Amino acid sequence: MKFFSLNKQAPEVSFKEATIQGQAPDKGLYFPKYLPQFDKKWIDDITDKSNEEIAIDVISPYASDDIPEAELQKIVKETIDFPIPLVQINDRIFSLELFHGPTLAFKDVGARFMSRCLGYFAKERSEKITVLVATSGDTGGAVANGFYNVEGVEVVILYPSGKVSSVQEKQLTTLGKNIHALEVNGSFDDCQQLVKRAFADAQLTSKIFLTSANSINVARWLPQQFYYFFAYKHWVNKSHPPVFCVPSGNFGNICAGMLAHISGLPVQHFIAACNANNVVPRFLQSGVYDVQPAIPTLSNAMDVGNPSNFVRILELFSHQFPQLKNVLTGFTITDTETRDTIRAVKEQEGYLLDPHGAVGYLALQRYLTEHPGLKGIFLETAHPVKFYDVVEPVIDEAIPVPPSIQQILPLPKHSTEIEVDYDVLKEYLIKK
Ligand SMILES: *Cc1c(COP(=O)(O)O)cnc(C)c1O
Repeated sequence: MKFFSLNKQAPEVSFKEATIQGQAPDKGLYFPKYLPQFDKKWIDDITDKSNEEIAIDVISPYASDDIPEAELQKIVKETIDFPIPLVQINDRIFSLELFHGPTLAFKDVGARFMSRCLGYFAKERSEKITVLVATSGDTGGAVANGFYNVEGVEVVILYPSGKVSSVQEKQLTTLGKNIHALEVNGSFDDCQQLVKRAFADAQLTSKIFLTSANSINVARWLPQQFYYFFAYKHWVNKSHPPVFCVPSGNFGNICAGMLAHISGLPVQHFIAACNANNVVPRFLQSGVYDVQPAIPTLSNAMDVGNPSNFVRILELFSHQFPQLKNVLTGFTITDTETRDTIRAVKEQEGYLLDPHGAVGYLALQRYLTEHPGLKGIFLETAHPVKFYDVVEPVIDEAIPVPPSIQQILPLPKHSTEIEVDYDVLKEYLIKK
């Protein structure tokens, strides 16, 4: 598979090059040159396939030119070595639980797949690869965990001191080995500015090979298709495909679902569930794409003012607004509604949502109310314990801490404190 840049000013590249570079030199996002198609028989037989078989068939068209089959099988196996259950909440609503991975959020799937691909490509190079990321919390944990112990790759994570949760900080700072945490005495924006300067510094990038692990990387985006196929495999009434409702921020996850659908996965409809950062729901209403600065909300992993992956969704629909509107509806959910939903679903259904899942649940419920006869799945993208500071006061109960988190809480934190000073970062990266 070749990938082209959506800005169309850069050469086509292989999966390997797209993964190593992240973004095209013209600042465009990479997009596959053709969209693979699954035939009806493959879809009909899906209940007889293992998750590994499904995942291999889904990813092979994109990656198999650059990664031999046995290696790809190993990568896929490690990527999905945790359960992804479809849990029925009531007669019309199901939860696809994507939070059983090591950092308790769905980003584990993309981060694990990408890190292992990059590790494989690093083996063929003499030079080490340095992954540089700024995080406001979740991404850093998934990236750190995904890259832990991957040979040939060093990871440097910048996070704002005192501005990530204690659990998130432990996930970033207790691994050690090839994972280096830089605790920046500043804000998330400061961290991001430092990282941007490093990527733009030609003197630095001539000395070390720098890449980002952010969510636009094709090796993070494409494997997110897996769990839509897994959910369909468990969907009982195959003659009435599910509505998928996806809590969305940067729109990578839902875009992967829509790609899966265009490649043949039966889906009734997609819902983009957003918090106050609702540029896409407003666009779907009005046809006007009007970006705004990010607004802080309770579902903070979705606080994105200008979602980078939305251009890929437009490309999937050849920029045809009516066709897109037929398949995708947007909803905006407020913080008050998020809290009320967590409380009501706990009381009425005995199911505990995290704030992102709550946005998804309520958006799906609204859509189903308008469309009697349909049933749907919302993606529960994080474990509620990750957002205990929001959830516990709402339900007035403590959430039991899962063993994977209990293990890391007593471990000592290892971070290097730095001021917001680019020269300090640069020296660190060169010497490391
Ligand atoms: C990143 C994230 C999202 C948003 O996913 P996108 O692919 O950016 O739309 C939703 N929920 C949680 C918990 C996340 O970490």
